[in-house]
Amino acid sequence: MADNVRKGITQNVPAAVTFHLSREYSAQHYGDSEEELFAQMAAEMKPWLGDSKIVAQKLHRWRFSEPKAEFGQPCVWLPDMRVGFCGDAFGGPRVEGAAISGLAMARKVIEDLELG
Ligand SMILES: Cc1cc2nc3c(=O)[nH]c(=O)nc-3n(C[C@H](O)[C@H](O)[C@H](O)COP(=O)(O)OP(=O)(O)OC[C@H]3O[C@@H](n4cnc5c(N)ncnc54)[C@H](O)[C@@H]3O)c2cc1C
Repeated sequence: MADNVRKGITQNVPAAVTFHLSREYSAQHYGDSEEELFAQMAAEMKPWLGDSKIVAQKLHRWRFSEPKAEFGQPCVWLPDMRVGFCGDAFGGPRVEGAAISGLAMARKVIEDLELG
């Protein structure tokens, strides 16, 4: 659960909070309606929201939210085909991991194509 004001991505009041459901729960309940999901989440959200009045709530379904498998190297470059693979499946499932993987890919391309 994240408070978007504390995270620094909004200054709006009333504040917006984001609840992420777990990988297992999301997979199991992907087909549930928005009403069903909010009803199921109400008890879990209550301790965090206290007596706050919910003025609006929105569900976002993220089918490809994180890599299912991770590779043991920062990127894959296939020089013969001039094709490369990078992203959070290589560097770790977060923005930093994706960025580090992208930089590793760029270095490999520069080295291999002697662009440096
Ligand atoms: C809800 C949520 C919250 C998150 N919060 C955080 C956070 O607070 N901090 C953090 O560090 N990380 C967070 N992450 C993880 C972070 O967003 C990812 O790790 C990161 O975006 C991965 O970057 P990427 O470039 O590897 O892949 P992506 O950002 O997934 O980019 C892949 C791109 O490829 C495109 N694409 C897919 N298939 C095709 C196709 N066939 N043809 C053309 N284009 C295609 C997609 O549209 C997308 O634009 C969060 C993820 C989710 C889902």
